[in-house]
Amino acid sequence: MKNLQPPQIDALKKGVQGTVIPAGDAAYDGARQVWNAMIDRHPAAIVRCAGTADVVHAVNFARDQGLPLAVRGGAHNIAGSAVCDDGIVIDLSQMKAVQVDAPARRARVEGGATLADFDAAAQAHGLATPLGINSTTGVAGLTLGGGFGWLSRKYGMTVDNLESAEVVTAAGEVVHASATGQPDLFWALRGGSGNFGVVTQFDFHLHPVGPQVLAGLIVYPFAEAKAVLRQYRDFAAQAPDDLSVWTVMRKAPPLPFLPQKVHGQEVVVLALLYAGDPAQGEMLVKPLHAFGTLLGAHVGAMPYVDWQKAFDPLLTPGARNYWKSHNFSELQDGLFDAVIAAIGTLPSPQCEIFFGAIGGATTRPAPGATAYAHRDARFVMNVHGRWDDAADDARCIAWARDFFKASAPFASGGVYVNFLTDDEGDRVKAAYGQNYERLAQVKRRYDPANLFSTNQNIRPA
Ligand SMILES: Cc1cc2nc3c(=O)[nH]c(=O)nc-3n(C[C@H](O)[C@H](O)[C@H](O)COP(=O)(O)OP(=O)(O)OC[C@H]3O[C@@H](n4cnc5c(N)ncnc54)[C@H](O)[C@@H]3O)c2cc1C
Repeated sequence: MKNLQPPQIDALKKGVQGTVIPAGDAAYDGARQVWNAMIDRHPAAIVRCAGTADVVHAVNFARDQGLPLAVRGGAHNIAGSAVCDDGIVIDLSQMKAVQVDAPARRARVEGGATLADFDAAAQAHGLATPLGINSTTGVAGLTLGGGFGWLSRKYGMTVDNLESAEVVTAAGEVVHASATGQPDLFWALRGGSGNFGVVTQFDFHLHPVGPQVLAGLIVYPFAEAKAVLRQYRDFAAQAPDDLSVWTVMRKAPPLPFLPQKVHGQEVVVLALLYAGDPAQGEMLVKPLHAFGTLLGAHVGAMPYVDWQKAFDPLLTPGARNYWKSHNFSELQDGLFDAVIAAIGTLPSPQCEIFFGAIGGATTRPAPGATAYAHRDARFVMNVHGRWDDAADDARCIAWARDFFKASAPFASGGVYVNFLTDDEGDRVKAAYGQNYERLAQVKRRYDPANLFSTNQNIRPA
């Protein structure tokens, strides 16, 4: 592990209003932890920035000292790219302000805000933009990879709602990227992940949403999985863009609306959100209650911000996680057979497989319109290997890899960059798809020495 020398720490501290946490500091071990407990890296120092000027100083310091650099938004990235060994972590967790201009339907969001911060501020005005399904995720990392969630079928990927961004480049310059200023950079930020600089502020377009939406869960026995999944496929093919229905296959958590004997049993869960009038949604989701022997259902009007937190208890930080992901343009029977086999051998009660339904508005832009290229993806599949004890690492990782392999023949070949683990360097090009070469050109212009390399890295052309 590389430590900074006292004069280096002084120089770093002198330039920032925020906090510098060098190795050895009492706060150091807490500050280097990220969401995925598999990640155990030791940076030389963590700079908790108070504002854009601190970010500029930290970027200049890392570059001039030849140190590795990582950028921490919400620290959720499964590959642990918010933290590096032996270098500087630019930690934005204190920069969480969200300002909403309701008449203009615009939000200005700082680079360290979480989805919960953003949703709460926007929903105070009955507004929202598509974000992910776990409220502790960082807006920054999610957006820079593309971003999708319950509102994406109606309003597109998160990047489709980005209007502009303030960026600190590798040269330490503060630039504003939009369709009219630095348009190449703006294009690259919308899916090129953290390769192009530190985003200190995002400006998003907002849409009227809720505040009450129809949402909830419908649970079936896993023994009926094939029939339920086939009906799900048919239903999803004709669902309006207002309606998002995802499927989760796992052992049932102790949900209060499920009979106790179902807890811990394998189940298929339909999770849904209807983004229009809840009363209209009730009619639309009726058929979902008749896919088989219903074990329980909890569907009703609820605050959008509550639904955005509904999965938080299953996705708390501190567990060990190994995830694999594929995109699908269709769900084939052979895929369902692979799911059924994998759920039959779940290695821990927290492991699961989910299909997130996107499509709708996410498929309408051309693949080259933003750096996010996967406009053909209608479903994003994740296999979540998740467990607590390091002794289970090999078993749980092998389970996730086996299912990933078994499901590959049915996948589209693309993968969502934000779901890559840190051992998937060979899939980086697939994650950027047809846009990789243009991204490499933009990278050469904005970061020719590849200072921002702790990420799913694009090499400068
Ligand atoms: C439990 C869980 C649920 C998820 N659900 C969804 C979902 O529903 N939809 C979805 O789209 N994704 C989802 N994701 C994936 C998520 O989008 C990525 O993990 C994303 O990287 C998280 O962003 P972050 O800011 O929290 O991550 P961090 O780990 O802090 O950052 C990840 C990377 O993003 C870059 N980065 C972060 N902040 C900045 C910044 N301000 N400027 C420049 N670069 C930056 C850096 O390269 C950094 O290494 C989920 C992940 C988890 C763990």
